[in-house]
Amino acid sequence: MTATADAVAREADRLTELDSAIGDADHGENMRRGFEAARAELGEEIPATPGAVLMTVGRKLVSTVGGASGPLYGTLLRRTGKALGSGERVSREELAGALSAGVEAVAQLGGAAAGDKTMLDALFPAVEAMTDSGGKDFEAARAAAERGAEETVPLQARKGRASYLGERSVGHQDPGATSAALLMAALAAADT
Ligand code: ADP
Ligand code: MG
Ligand code: MG
Repeated sequence: MTATADAVAREADRLTELDSAIGDADHGENMRRGFEAARAELGEEIPATPGAVLMTVGRKLVSTVGGASGPLYGTLLRRTGKALGSGERVSREELAGALSAGVEAVAQLGGAAAGDKTMLDALFPAVEAMTDSGGKDFEAARAAAERGAEETVPLQARKGRASYLGERSVGHQDPGATSAALLMAALAAADT
């Protein structure tokens, strides 16, 4: 989570630039605010289990991020954390399964499908790559998320603010898919 906060801080301007093309130019700032609040909370007390860490960060995102991405990323992390249960150690397979449950919850909450030009276009392929490798290959998940984010460029948005633009949303990379790829990259980097 702190690696994600670092990546978000580093890439916030780029996320906001992407959101200025097809949204309201706040995605970088939304994500930065949420993950800095999460970082501060983890700095005070680190929850006892990986699942509790994710649930804590998820709650923080919901309470500090305005906009669509707060509840969506909040749901992703809370649901993933909940699915991890109360174990103090988590296997890669368990994490892959839990992440899959988290991504499903995002799809349920936002009502978006693959190809709608949202964060799910990075998250679905990441989970697929992780599941295909039995939860072993976080690097494949990172690459799949990044590819998925890049592949949102030619898509027309069907969910979220960008969908208001209709055909004019074509030709731009989705900001949420881009931040989702950052999250997967942080996970892969933390997997040593
Ligand atoms: P807002 O659009 O409210 O300003 P953000 O800019 O922080 O919120 O986040 C925008 C991102 O949220 C989009 O790029 C998209 O990836 C994601 N998003 C928006 N609506 C949905 C949805 N219904 N399902 C999944 N992701 C969504
Ligand atoms: Mg926005
Ligand atoms: Mg906004």
